[in-house]
Amino acid sequence: MTRVFNFSPGPATLPEAVLRQAADEMLDWHGSGMSVMEMSHRGKEFIGIHAEAESLLRELMGIPASYKVLFMQGGAIGENAIVPMNLIGKTGSADYVNTGEWSKKSLKEAKTYGKVSIAASGEASNFTAIPKQSEWKLDPNASYVHICSNETIGGVEYHWTPDTGAVPLVADMSSNILSRPIDVSKYGLIYAGAQKNMGPSGLTVVIVREDLMGHALPITPSAFNYKTQADADSMYNTPPTYAIYIAGLVLKHVKERGGMAAMQEHNRAKAKVLYDYLDQSRFFSNSVARDDRSLMNVPFQLRDAALDEAFLKGAQAKGMIQLKGHRVVGGMRASIYNAMPIEGVRALVQYMKEFEQQHG
Ligand code: PMP
Repeated sequence: MTRVFNFSPGPATLPEAVLRQAADEMLDWHGSGMSVMEMSHRGKEFIGIHAEAESLLRELMGIPASYKVLFMQGGAIGENAIVPMNLIGKTGSADYVNTGEWSKKSLKEAKTYGKVSIAASGEASNFTAIPKQSEWKLDPNASYVHICSNETIGGVEYHWTPDTGAVPLVADMSSNILSRPIDVSKYGLIYAGAQKNMGPSGLTVVIVREDLMGHALPITPSAFNYKTQADADSMYNTPPTYAIYIAGLVLKHVKERGGMAAMQEHNRAKAKVLYDYLDQSRFFSNSVARDDRSLMNVPFQLRDAALDEAFLKGAQAKGMIQLKGHRVVGGMRASIYNAMPIEGVRALVQYMKEFEQQHG
């Protein structure tokens, strides 16, 4: 068996140890005589799996007791509607910070449910920088302020936490959750699709401060009502059981590796290998402002886009896949989430050097 270095933006590479454990437990989970996939979500086995995943997430992220953790479905794109349906009703309006493709999608969707104002936008820089907090125009009457903490496509990431005063901060953390320590108490709500740093697709994690629930618009489907889900321990409808189980294994693995501080160190080291190379190269480049560069998704361009196909083909031949950039920014993108080993990034840089020597 040969495993590739998978640079996919998501669903993305998972820790091999987790996949092996899942394989071992596939037919008979802990002597239960069944696969986790076959368990009732209301049976004691699955309730235990669910509780452990939640408790690991709480421990790793330091989630205060005044926050609910919800395991939902619908993905982050679902949350683009579910967040405003649940939260915008308080005052009828919300502020959005536009830092690229994913925040654009979020704010567009929210307009169906209330008044949306753009508090700041990275458009002037063609979304290669996060607008400075001093440029934000926040409405003190907004129900919340929405950010995307890491733009998976553009490769810009917040390395600071915005101060939104008394207005709750809502963050789409799909592509950088669990990548570094964060202070959850600075946020009103955090949501993330699991399929980058936490597990398989199908699971959406929502971390919500309790007092923000209870303002859902009457049109909110009950399965997407945070209060209904919180009151039912995320079991109002059948949760994505297998995805929760794998997420639990990933969380355990992350804890064994040293938790958030260790992930941050590992992610910084990996990103440095790639950015250092890009910065001295005359053939490859990354256009994101240095302070705002993502440690998770690194877009880069070849000097001559006509060589893109050859670059991708050569990478594939060396077992490095999914490096093609998103069509909006073109070029390449290396997604280097928690589970990407530093060896993968070193192999990529080595290949880039060889390619540069050949074509530069
Ligand atoms: N937000 C961000 C930051 C993302 O990276 C993605 C997926 N790449 C999404 C939202 C959409 O997630 P999903 O397709 O799971 O709804």
